[in-house]
Amino acid sequence: MSPEPEFRRDPVCGRWAVVAPERSHRPITLEGVEPRHRRNGERRPCPFCPGQEHDTPDEVLAYRASGSAPDGPGWQLRVVPNKFPAVRPDAGGAFCAVEGMVFLTTPGFGRAEVVVECAEHLADPTALNPQQFTDVFRAYRERLVALAGDPQLAYAAVFKNVGAEAGASLGHTHSQIISLPIVPEAIWAELLGSEAFHARTGRCVFCDLAARELADGERVVARSANFLAVTAFAPRYAYEFWVLPLQHSARYEAITDARASELAGLIRRVLVALDRAQAEPAYNWFLHTAPLRSPELAHYHWHIEVLPRTARPAGLEWGYGCFITTVSPERAAAELRGALPPDERPVG
Ligand SMILES: [Zn+2]
Ligand SMILES: [Zn+2]
Repeated sequence: MSPEPEFRRDPVCGRWAVVAPERSHRPITLEGVEPRHRRNGERRPCPFCPGQEHDTPDEVLAYRASGSAPDGPGWQLRVVPNKFPAVRPDAGGAFCAVEGMVFLTTPGFGRAEVVVECAEHLADPTALNPQQFTDVFRAYRERLVALAGDPQLAYAAVFKNVGAEAGASLGHTHSQIISLPIVPEAIWAELLGSEAFHARTGRCVFCDLAARELADGERVVARSANFLAVTAFAPRYAYEFWVLPLQHSARYEAITDARASELAGLIRRVLVALDRAQAEPAYNWFLHTAPLRSPELAHYHWHIEVLPRTARPAGLEWGYGCFITTVSPERAAAELRGALPPDERPVG
């Protein structure tokens, strides 16, 4: 089989998959560690620690002490191309090939980047101080703006895996940004669903959701002046929560430094509460924002979804896409509210 990564579209339901054999060479230091990696006793040297910069490709963004040289120590946050990418900027060729009207493929073109969130070898994102946590959300914005300059890229998926159970393979806290020439199915579903709601009502479904959740309060976990954290109404996993801006905004790139700091503070608090309520579960968070270079859309509204691994998906989930949770979102919200640490002053 060719080592070139390739996108393949499911012939029936249209879901895209990436076949990336090269990924199998990546180092894994968390294998078998469940549910959350907390130890620093990894056998391999950590490629994300200062002094190991030669072990990653050249940085594309860094917050570093003035006077420190690129790709050397002296940084607080680094964004580097993934050494074992699922998609590659050099994968080329015809955009789409269709075999027998059934098998649609396209080369695995794209960019895979890693946001190394701090210089210290910390496994737990809530161990980041408020400034470090804020820098993560500023770096997301800066990379989205930069990636939008490549007309071949349609979407940048910004996400984080915490714990082996949620797919993390290295213990040093980091996020990933995978930019694709296609818009992934989950985003299409949200774009189409929110567009249909807007066509019916003239309103943004996320703005309506935020207003109703605030009025009702049962699923509200926490809020700040401009952001709201609520447990998902129809969750995939118990304690799943979403964070969204209270003011309508389709594109995350529009966030200011002050709002990024406020957002970081709110998410950090709820993650601390989640760790307390659920004994540090593994989780993913992902940013859902409009496609790259999208205009401001009246029907779409960026948000962050946090998906704790509080159960193991089984037949109904994998086979039919229907998730069963045993803790109601209303009870989960009450538990998370009860576990919240005190509010911190936003930085910046
Ligand atoms: Zn490290
Ligand atoms: Zn909205």
